[in-house]
Amino acid sequence: MSIKRLSGVHAPHHKNTAECAPQRIPTPDKVIIPMNMHIGAPSTPVVKAGDLVKVGQVIGEAAGFVSVPVHASVSGKVVKIDELLMANGAKAKAVVIEADGLQEVAETVVPPTVETTEQFLAAVRASGLVGLGGAGFPTVVKLSVKNPNSIDYLLINGAECEPYITSDLRTMIDDCEHIIKGAALIKKFVGQKKTIIGIEDNKPEAIKLFQEKTANDPDFEVMAMPSLYPQGGEKVLIHNATGRDVPEGKLPLDVGCIVINVTTLAFISKYIETGMPLIEKCLTVDGSAVAKPGNVIAPIGTPIAKIFEFCGGYKAEPRKILYGGPMMGISVPSDEVPLLKNNNAVLAFAEKEATLAPTTACIKCGRCVAACPVGLMPATIEHAFKIKNVDMLNELKVMLCMECGCCSFVCPAKRELVLTNKLAKAMVREASQKK
Ligand code: SF4
Ligand code: SF4
Repeated sequence: MSIKRLSGVHAPHHKNTAECAPQRIPTPDKVIIPMNMHIGAPSTPVVKAGDLVKVGQVIGEAAGFVSVPVHASVSGKVVKIDELLMANGAKAKAVVIEADGLQEVAETVVPPTVETTEQFLAAVRASGLVGLGGAGFPTVVKLSVKNPNSIDYLLINGAECEPYITSDLRTMIDDCEHIIKGAALIKKFVGQKKTIIGIEDNKPEAIKLFQEKTANDPDFEVMAMPSLYPQGGEKVLIHNATGRDVPEGKLPLDVGCIVINVTTLAFISKYIETGMPLIEKCLTVDGSAVAKPGNVIAPIGTPIAKIFEFCGGYKAEPRKILYGGPMMGISVPSDEVPLLKNNNAVLAFAEKEATLAPTTACIKCGRCVAACPVGLMPATIEHAFKIKNVDMLNELKVMLCMECGCCSFVCPAKRELVLTNKLAKAMVREASQKK
């Protein structure tokens, strides 16, 4: 089935690495593993400097319901536990491990016993899994459903809409079986009535593969989505796949949907088979400053300089390095920052692509309004933010902004609308906390 409802923008795809099967990088000399790679309470370190650790060993314990454990991605020696300034501005403890190169696996890495829903959820938490394509929301929280009868859809997000990134596409092509097995596990232990995988129509190979592999399952639908950014935005996908809208302040569960990214789902089924927790990531390495773009598999905590080095190093001075894609990615201060659980790309751009055009006055063209997938009025939000009018920001539904960047992308005046939206959301949050 294909659909026609459109929203968003035609961002250039730049899927240069679509044909690049992932290559595993050599074990780095050192990894830096932060304790806050997820939304919610940072994990608590349970190792100290001088401890020897093995691959898959817990080095940070979950510190609350919205938290997951963190594991060693290399075997070696803990050399320090440092306070680290993360790219989002938050400080967090990080465990620094000097690798011994042996990659000895911890004795605790064994397939979990999973016969009940409780055991399944406990396993998902123990795996350290967070949504691998997004903001780092612990997957166990997403799957902890009070009323299984209320879940109509499992939506598998295969709409990898950010320019450049192809790591999910590689998972869909190289590991289709594990994605399907992951969906079956969710059906068995959480209980959706129907499964839909949404894949953008610029990935015909993946669409065909899933159509073939699921042809005999009447409850599994493969949906070709228009290749329009941000098709993979959770709310956009839900709307376009089911016609349902997630109201302000509500979650996909409130409209009977669970949305899980393809790589997250593949990981769940591999974890149940092997017991190896989340210790490595497949990610896309690209951008005009990178000598040999490609997809790589690297231990979590690897300094991203090592990942660029594996891809031939820089062919031009990198002027902008991003965690993630150009639309929603975060600019990082240097290539010494570590690979995180939810990074699906690192991009390095040379001078030309990194130079911002000068901002000019709003010409009231309305393009930002037309481009917004959730129907917001970014230019008016910008005005309300400038005059610090929180009531007006609430009336304009600024909290519905998913920070996709479509408005900034289309703005001929090059106004920093998405940045303003983020600041405006913070203003609204602060005001509501004071009440
Ligand atoms: S206002 Fe928010 S949701 Fe709308 S286009 Fe801009 S960033 Fe995206
Ligand atoms: S797209 Fe830019 S110039 Fe046009 S109305 Fe929006 S903010 Fe103003």
